[in-house]
Amino acid sequence: MQYSIGIDLGGTDIKAGLLSSDGKLMYRTVVSTHVNEGAKAIAKRIAQTILQVHSQTQSLKDIIGIGVGSPGLILADSGIIHFSPNFPGWSDIPLLDYVAAELGNLKIPLYIDNDVNVMVLGELHHGAGIGYENVVGLTLGTGVGGGIVINRKVYHGSWNTAGELGHTIVQPNGPKCGCGNRGCLEAYAGARHIVQRTRQKLASGQNSCLNPDVLTPKQIAEAAEAGDKLAQEIFAETGKYIGVALTSIAHILNPEIAIIGGGIAGAGEKLLFQHIRNEFRKRTMGIPSQMEIVPAKLGNDAGLIGAAMLAYNIH
Ligand SMILES: [Zn+2]
Repeated sequence: MQYSIGIDLGGTDIKAGLLSSDGKLMYRTVVSTHVNEGAKAIAKRIAQTILQVHSQTQSLKDIIGIGVGSPGLILADSGIIHFSPNFPGWSDIPLLDYVAAELGNLKIPLYIDNDVNVMVLGELHHGAGIGYENVVGLTLGTGVGGGIVINRKVYHGSWNTAGELGHTIVQPNGPKCGCGNRGCLEAYAGARHIVQRTRQKLASGQNSCLNPDVLTPKQIAEAAEAGDKLAQEIFAETGKYIGVALTSIAHILNPEIAIIGGGIAGAGEKLLFQHIRNEFRKRTMGIPSQMEIVPAKLGNDAGLIGAAMLAYNIH
């Protein structure tokens, strides 16, 4: 059995885990990131978590590598974080060099990639994507992330920016997106935008049990499940726009499967996925319309498992 270490680097927490080659997370730990302390301090903390995981496993000689998943534009080949919205002020930070320096004598190969690419890689090898060659992934959270796998490898594009599926335009004159453009998928399916659209409907006088002052996507989903028509409409619209975006993605890439994860995807089959599929089937040409659309399987572990899979240098 081989083992690898995965690090899920976020703006709040650094999670670390030990993955066996058959996809089991054997050990995990979490520490706070403390973003304001800067890149070198964070690299030191990452190294400490690696040493902690490693110390649990001294009998395991076959730790083949360590992978880090991080939000932002990652230069995977050079181990550099070019930019990350979660780490304000970081510009071309050679994170892997910093971590390697902190690890001293522990010489294990280090890898890094974007957190959504890593999530798709995890799903490909140990989740909903097992057995598939060409896969796209979407994460529906605060923002809408994307990742593309072609022939079982993450597609990075010419300058490492491929896979920004959340910024597929679904409505040219739609609401403003965080990227500055209008009508991106994220401007309909990102958590903040879902809440904003719900508030607008409430303000227009539509009947609902929802309170505009305390609104979260989870509350909207609960209201929808309880039969609230406005809340159901919000999820149906969200599903529709995801279906529109997937139509373009299927026509461009012809993947076998789209895997959708993140908090909003937890709304499930009835509230969300059936609307995604209906819209997608309505719009997509015959052959690419065979693409399956499924929920992610690995949940919160996808980041750790996918990061650990980077160690196999197959991304
Ligand atoms: Zn955008």
